[in-house]
Amino acid sequence: MSTLQALVSGIGSGSIEVVDLTAPLSSTTPILKLPSPFADTVPFSLEEISRYDDRGPAWYWNNIHTGEHTGTHLDAPVHWVTAKDGADVSQIPARQLIAPAAVIDVSDRVADNPDFLLEVDDLKEWEAKYGALPDGGWLLVRTGWDARSQSQEAFLNADETGPHTPGISVAAARWLAEEAPIIGVGVETVGTDAGTAHSFDPPFPCHSFVLGAGKYGLTQLQNLRRLPATGAVVVAGPLPIVGGSGSPTRVLALVER
Ligand code: MN
Repeated sequence: MSTLQALVSGIGSGSIEVVDLTAPLSSTTPILKLPSPFADTVPFSLEEISRYDDRGPAWYWNNIHTGEHTGTHLDAPVHWVTAKDGADVSQIPARQLIAPAAVIDVSDRVADNPDFLLEVDDLKEWEAKYGALPDGGWLLVRTGWDARSQSQEAFLNADETGPHTPGISVAAARWLAEEAPIIGVGVETVGTDAGTAHSFDPPFPCHSFVLGAGKYGLTQLQNLRRLPATGAVVVAGPLPIVGGSGSPTRVLALVER
């Protein structure tokens, strides 16, 4: 049997499970809210063109209104000022859209502290246990935050001091950008940076360093709890929006059972 035949046969028999890491996309999908004076994205919405009626008797279709960074989505390097001459989302090589994933689970510590930050020591501890992060692969950070994804309020978890959601320390973001062989970082939260990262030095270090290094972000992932620490393969399908800074993305993981 060829490698590809073995793959489709495994998917058919269930020995390879396809885990959907994508949040359903609707008008209630949580979106980022920036403080004044910064401009915000629009929520996702459908605008009906026709539904088996005078406007189109045999067909149903919609226009969609969405931001590039709405729901489960990919951040392209050009999203951040540190990569303003970098790749847009249409320029990401297709072969990078299928890549191995390492999963680090910090959900226990996030349960006690929504402002939890992943540190370099956590990554080195993971590597001591499981081996090096995958060359050309993703680091996916499991925080348990996907349990809040049904509610904009719980997902952003903001109070008078701003949002409180887990993320990555300045040093860890720099390490992932400059030292780790990965192509990008995936998270369950609304963005790859912590809710409090506006006040870090530099602000939003994961965006600043990781995108600045020509790497990618994946956000609002779900079901990371169903992935092993190593061995899963991620298939990420952003739309090839020419000039786009990102795109809503269907993200699947292949897992051997
Ligand atoms: Mn984004």
